[in-house]
Amino acid sequence: MNLILLGPPGAGKGTQAKRLQDTHGIAQVSTGDMLRAEVAGGTPVGLEAKAVMEAGQLVSDDIIVRMLASRVSQPDCAKGFILDGFPRTVPQAQALDRMLADKHLKLDAVIELKVDDSALTERIAGRFTCASCGEGYHDSFKQTAKTGVCDSCGGTQFTRRADDNRDTVVARLEAYHRQTAPILPHYAAQGTLRTVDGMADIGEVASQIDAILAQIG
Ligand code: AMP
Repeated sequence: MNLILLGPPGAGKGTQAKRLQDTHGIAQVSTGDMLRAEVAGGTPVGLEAKAVMEAGQLVSDDIIVRMLASRVSQPDCAKGFILDGFPRTVPQAQALDRMLADKHLKLDAVIELKVDDSALTERIAGRFTCASCGEGYHDSFKQTAKTGVCDSCGGTQFTRRADDNRDTVVARLEAYHRQTAPILPHYAAQGTLRTVDGMADIGEVASQIDAILAQIG
């Protein structure tokens, strides 16, 4: 099954994609995670992307499309993939259509997580992640059961994203509305677009997504 999770920063795409990877055995493909790995590795792509990401703007379509094409060719994507954070522009959506057609693959659903802008700043500013296993947490909405210890792996080191701050959120939301939201009609016209209420709690959003997957599965 090949899916896209679409929505503004902080909508819960990463949380749901990670869960679907675990429950459905399909690969989570997060262009944001891939770029952060490039930045951490100091690669040429990372050096080019770092300042753009920190400013809350979008990395160039060329870099992203090349990165994505090589990622979905890897063996773990053979059973299907969940695109988390891609496509983010109309040219990226068009490049994905061509990529899927070349590989004789189809898109099963584009799931939009709809969330009010006013909720996103608080959601984003409180996020942190286990440095060992990547499990995501939140200061207000999803704390660790034991302070300072990851529920999933027992790790004690946590990280916060450099771009998860109130200043950058404004630019990221603006980029979403200006550059990413225009791809929604593209998928509505294809008949693949489904919308869930991303304002609901994590479990309820998961149920809504599972209901969609059961229908199309
Ligand atoms: P994310 O983790 O998906 O919120 O992405 C973090 C940052 O990485 C974004 O604010 C962009 O700067 C960059 N990025 C991630 N995915 C894309 C994409 N598909 N197109 C352009 N920039 C991206």
